[in-house]
Amino acid sequence: MFSGKTTWLLNYEKTLPKGTYELFKPTIDTRYSVHEYVSHDGHRLPAHNLSVKDPIFKLNPNIQTILIDELNFFDPKVITPVLKEQLKLGKTIIVAGLLYDFAKNPFGATLSLSQKADKFIQLFARCDRCGKRASESYRKTTSQEQFLLGAQDVYGASCKRCWAILSRTSEK
Ligand SMILES: [Zn+2]
Repeated sequence: MFSGKTTWLLNYEKTLPKGTYELFKPTIDTRYSVHEYVSHDGHRLPAHNLSVKDPIFKLNPNIQTILIDELNFFDPKVITPVLKEQLKLGKTIIVAGLLYDFAKNPFGATLSLSQKADKFIQLFARCDRCGKRASESYRKTTSQEQFLLGAQDVYGASCKRCWAILSRTSEK
């Protein structure tokens, strides 16, 4: 959370020639807009929806690069074969996602695909409690549902040391 992964993805997108890439996000994500992509820092660009249950790419032949954010919302069993098919067609695939959920369980397809990727970049946020490098995310509400969506009102970032304290506080 707040590690700048979406900003990283959008900055990468700026380096690609127009008309050669498409950005996708899971259809479960309707926080801000269905047809437009908005990162936490307010950067906007069009995004195509990709069904988490049945992801299908309908790409015109000029598309060389597929960008996907919130990879954590896809089941690895569902998304992995679909991405493999696109790799066989010669497409470059750039994805961003959370590795772990608030309970430190692997979150969707991110962890398993990070191990298969040619290149893997891990980004870190700052801990809400002590300001050190954060590797964890904790939930500020008491809901235990893994797919709860939200921005700063729902999630926070913490280091390993503060995670237990912040998680305990959030359960009160
Ligand atoms: Zn800390």
